[in-house]
Amino acid sequence: MKMIEYAIRKTDGKQVQIGNCENIYGLRYEDRNKVIASPGCTSHTQTLNLHWRLPFPEEDHILPGEYRDRGRTRKSYPLQGYVLDGAETIPGEFQVSNHGLAINVTCYHGVKVPKGSPDLRPFFYGREPVFSLYGIKNTVTGIQALVCCNACVNLWTVEIKEILEYVTDPELKSRLEKYASENAGVPEKKFIRRSSGRHDKPIIQ
Ligand SMILES: [Zn+2]
Ligand SMILES: [Zn+2]
Repeated sequence: MKMIEYAIRKTDGKQVQIGNCENIYGLRYEDRNKVIASPGCTSHTQTLNLHWRLPFPEEDHILPGEYRDRGRTRKSYPLQGYVLDGAETIPGEFQVSNHGLAINVTCYHGVKVPKGSPDLRPFFYGREPVFSLYGIKNTVTGIQALVCCNACVNLWTVEIKEILEYVTDPELKSRLEKYASENAGVPEKKFIRRSSGRHDKPIIQ
């Protein structure tokens, strides 16, 4: 089944790629009516729980569908100092490698160090932000924030107000505050419900 991928931009009639499955990296939520879904593609304006691109002020000049970073590695916003409550109870996984040897690591998202062995001795050596704001999600109860772990790319849905204080860009913050005060914009019965599963995890060899 073909999922949401292509849409026609209303201003110039150009067909652009806006996302795949629930990952709508090519379109901001407030721009959703600037494009119409291409024939055969699911309507993004009628679908709940999509992962919309963040409204970065520095990207205001870019047209819908023209953002260059695509897929799961799209631009996100580091949340310096934020720790997602209980994140370690849902571990993820990532891989490290060196000269033909690879190690699959259970990720506790910076909350705790994975268990080692005499030959494998993990430790923290820095304080990089582990959690980033990844996008927003139009849920049946309103717009929520999507937070990702930068190490393993797990995603969580949290209330926007939970992360606002970690957003230091004043313009981005005010846009997020506006989302938090909106409802999802379309009557619930018109929405198509989507599974919450992710389909775009990186391939692990
Ligand atoms: Zn899918
Ligand atoms: Zn993680």
